[in-house]
Amino acid sequence: MENKDIPYKIYLEENEMPKYWYNVRADMKKKPAPLLNPGTHQPMSAADLAPVFCEELIQQELDNDTRYYPIPQEIRDFYKMYRPSPLVRAYCLEEKLGTPAKIYYKFEGNNTSGSHKLNSAIAQAYYAKKQGLKGVTTETGAGQWGTALSMACSYFDLDCKVYMVKVSYEQKPFRREVMRVYGASVTPSPSETTQIGKKILSEHPGTGGSLGCAISEAVEVAVSNPGYRYVLGSVLNQVLLHQSIIGVETKTALDKYGITPDIIIGCAGGGSNLGGLISPFMGEKLRGEKDYRIIAVEPASCPSFTRGVYAYDFADTGMVCPLAKMYTLGSDFIPAPNHAGGLRYHGMSPILSELYDEGLMEAVSVTQTKVFEAAEQFARVEGILPAPESSHAIRVAIDEALKCKETGEEKTIVFGLTGTGYFDLVAYEKFHNGEMTDYIPTDEELAKYRAKLPQID
Ligand SMILES: *Cc1c(COP(=O)(O)O)cnc(C)c1O
Repeated sequence: MENKDIPYKIYLEENEMPKYWYNVRADMKKKPAPLLNPGTHQPMSAADLAPVFCEELIQQELDNDTRYYPIPQEIRDFYKMYRPSPLVRAYCLEEKLGTPAKIYYKFEGNNTSGSHKLNSAIAQAYYAKKQGLKGVTTETGAGQWGTALSMACSYFDLDCKVYMVKVSYEQKPFRREVMRVYGASVTPSPSETTQIGKKILSEHPGTGGSLGCAISEAVEVAVSNPGYRYVLGSVLNQVLLHQSIIGVETKTALDKYGITPDIIIGCAGGGSNLGGLISPFMGEKLRGEKDYRIIAVEPASCPSFTRGVYAYDFADTGMVCPLAKMYTLGSDFIPAPNHAGGLRYHGMSPILSELYDEGLMEAVSVTQTKVFEAAEQFARVEGILPAPESSHAIRVAIDEALKCKETGEEKTIVFGLTGTGYFDLVAYEKFHNGEMTDYIPTDEELAKYRAKLPQID
């Protein structure tokens, strides 16, 4: 093994931690397309968004120009409890692979929610509190976002109402219980507590629910209860802004040791961790200062970038949210039951969609069993049990490192390890028992959903 002048873990001192979020939109020549009102197809104004979202978050959502946002002191104080997250040099993985590549990963799983989602949850809860709200509502599928938000709300003493997709509510009782530890109320969706929930239940008795349906319920509760707003854990510009903490920390740590990455890799569900990780690097690329290869990794069962179209679409199945221009498979698309719950979203962040459309980043899709093979290989040498979502990035990092082995190139690879997989052991069990499937949608199937996209002129 080589002489390790770079430590296994590059930490930042408290005084080196980022004091600002970086808004990559400020450096984009072509800005992401605006959200549209689903009724009039006109751009959503701050006033249109006000009944649903918190005021300051709306301002962040619509702001394409401010480059740096100072992180409020209260949020920085909370970040200090679990940040900076370590940037780890994967020496053991490199040795196991026999690659000359240098592999680093930014590990976001060191908090109770087990993922990067807490970075935005705490910011959103802070602005809700500052506005004097009583509470917030949201949906959660696999439960990572709901857990992160319940932690953030309890810190700021806000009520937190989580609509959890019914099948997950029943299959993941432990996540539900963690949310209740933090005082959130967790309702299986669809439920009898909303008009839309009652309607869906009467039309589809016994349904296990869906993310789209849970969003519709959460939005209805927010707009019909004074003092409540709805919050979302990915896709939106504001969420990428908060998640830029991941990238700014990563860049600060690399700069300390004079390291320049060649390839930056992240998994992409709604695009928030990847968008956050790449932000400052993409900024350099956009300003023409540096060049990096940036790779988004998505499941072959839900291939928004690699097989979707760049078009306006509904953000939710209930069609209540604004229209967003993004790479999408169509809002009716229901992906096969892939075990990476956090990557099962039909659309993609409008910011990343625009960057991808301009050829500033690449995307690849990978099948589930290949992802779990990489997850296990990683777990055995690096000592962390990775989340299935994160393991998509591990798969492609390993593939790129193996290419370096063939060519002898000493490339530097950085990838985002978004979280831990302790609540995903049923998926690991399926993998071990050989019961995991690799469903890939056919072109005909995708065309069917594409035909239903809203027509915007
Ligand atoms: C939610 C989640 C993701 C995907 O969400 P993005 O918004 O694309 O980052 C990835 N990894 C983990 C662990 C998650 O919980």
